[in-house]
Amino acid sequence: MSNCIFCQIIEGTIPSQKVYETDTVLAFRDIQPAAPVHILIIPKKHIPTMNDVGPEDDQTMADLFAAARQIAKEEGVAESGYRLINNVNKDSGQVVFHLHFHLLGGKPLGPLLA
Ligand code: 5GP
Ligand code: ZN
Repeated sequence: MSNCIFCQIIEGTIPSQKVYETDTVLAFRDIQPAAPVHILIIPKKHIPTMNDVGPEDDQTMADLFAAARQIAKEEGVAESGYRLINNVNKDSGQVVFHLHFHLLGGKPLGPLLA
């Protein structure tokens, strides 16, 4: 998907601060961090939203969560705590239509719906 920002980050045509990479997953720092630790975890496969995930993506989804666990440890927030967020479509405020999980931590995050 050449018009997708995150596909361009995967291709390397848009630079990013990568923190984790495997054959199936990439994670990088959010350009507008909402917390001291704010990392985006994405599949290398272009999947627009959670609604588009199919049974063929089971391994990829497992890989995304394995990445989240490892990154939380490496960023030092596994024990202090963190939040994983996935926005879907308009009411969530999703702006980039390439599946991603926000990993947020490094401070008390407050109530989920502030
Ligand atoms: P969404 O609202 O779609 O769940 O979140 C998209 C996130 O992507 C936002 O937090 C935004 O700051 C981040 N973002 C958008 N464009 C870029 C970019 O070019 N590089 C990086 N590192 N993050 C981006
Ligand atoms: Zn994409």
